[in-house]
Amino acid sequence: MLGEKILQMLQEEIPKAEYERYIKNLAYDEESSKADEAVYVAPNLFIANWVKTKYRHKIAQLFKLQTGIETSVKILTKKGFVQKSTPKEAKAEVPSSTSTKINPTYTFENFVVGSSNQFAYTASLSVAENPGKAYNPLFIYGGVGLGKTHLLHAIGNFNIKKNKTVIYATIEQFLNDFTYHLRNETLERFREKYRQCDILLIDDVQFLSGKERTQEEFFHTFNELHNDNKQIVLTSDQHPKKIAGLEERLKSRFEWGLIADIQPPELETKIAIIKKKCELDGIHLDDEIVNYIAANMDSNIREIEGVILKLNAYSSLVGQRIDLSLAKNVLSEMQKEQQKNISLKDIVDVVSAELNIKPSEIKSKSRNRQIVNARRMVIYLARTLTPNSMPALAQFFGMKDHTSVSHAMKKVKEMIEKDADFKLQIDELAHKIKNLGSEQK
Ligand code: ADP
Ligand code: MG
Repeated sequence: MLGEKILQMLQEEIPKAEYERYIKNLAYDEESSKADEAVYVAPNLFIANWVKTKYRHKIAQLFKLQTGIETSVKILTKKGFVQKSTPKEAKAEVPSSTSTKINPTYTFENFVVGSSNQFAYTASLSVAENPGKAYNPLFIYGGVGLGKTHLLHAIGNFNIKKNKTVIYATIEQFLNDFTYHLRNETLERFREKYRQCDILLIDDVQFLSGKERTQEEFFHTFNELHNDNKQIVLTSDQHPKKIAGLEERLKSRFEWGLIADIQPPELETKIAIIKKKCELDGIHLDDEIVNYIAANMDSNIREIEGVILKLNAYSSLVGQRIDLSLAKNVLSEMQKEQQKNISLKDIVDVVSAELNIKPSEIKSKSRNRQIVNARRMVIYLARTLTPNSMPALAQFFGMKDHTSVSHAMKKVKEMIEKDADFKLQIDELAHKIKNLGSEQK
């Protein structure tokens, strides 16, 4: 069949690992395909997205080469496929078996360990090796894109291999599942699913906040599993104590076992992670470029991966080797895109909340040391995270002229160099502000 032949042709053009991991898993859907539209089905959304970004263009080219017809390529996931042909069945199937949602590439082997994530890694590994015995629950918390979900899936993958029943769900899926079965009066099935597993992996529990009914249900799920010595692993962006709108009894249970945090990776770990990703994706980047990306990107690994993918896509599109100037361009484009979403008010709000100062005080003329310090931090962050010029910032803060802004910048830079804790604080603030932007989108 042509659809399959095309994939074999693709195999000759791309790294073996890529073919094995992604392309091999595609099934050509002859029934849905047309002369000018090729449809493939991927086993999960992850693979579908990957193929879409990296190979759809190439597959289309190969079709054109073979048939002479301009062909569009569709990559569907199984679910989308089922829904299309038999909508009724798809509906009945909504909250389906969960083990398939575990990403097979998120393994312990593929996780780069550095001092920032060592603790969470070790804790995850011992839980994976001794589920229900080591620490129960294990609670992993840390900022966006630092590897929490990866570790959760790694625990899952490790135990799927041992034929354990693993359930992975984000708290949102848990909630959807719950309301679905509640509505259909099939709560028994819901409970069966979540309470009859060896390992329950629940991602992003901060979203339980304020959802009383779901908290109640989750509380019972937790108790039952815990009583049966079944392993529970949870992740969140914050320490359980700090999750607002979460019942005390849940907070206290979340602290029963072990709490492990993940910090933003240091430069060395970032470099190692980039190299690992390149190796897995069959992409070659010179050390110079790896170092540049590591030094100039924030610590969100997901964004770093985005840069690597983009670089690779650009270079295969124009058939150009990835060099430093290309890397610089891609990075600055991405950063500009992010900057567009950040307002000065966001920065003032985040910094003042963090330092316990009123936003109005930051824009005031107060010489109070704490306020002066906060104001400087806001200015520094505004200069680095938004495209505002120094005169524009001076105007916003009601300062005489841009020299005051430049003075503040100089002070903050000095402090960053001298004081590691201060640098960490600035990084954290920048991180918070950027995430604010992405949540609003
Ligand atoms: P989080 O759940 O904390 O927001 P993820 O687990 O989704 O973050 O990680 C984002 C991406 O970064 C994933 O693709 C993951 O594989 C990768 N990643 C994060 N930390 C590491 C690490 N230490 N080694 C390898 N990959 C990592
Ligand atoms: Mg996550």
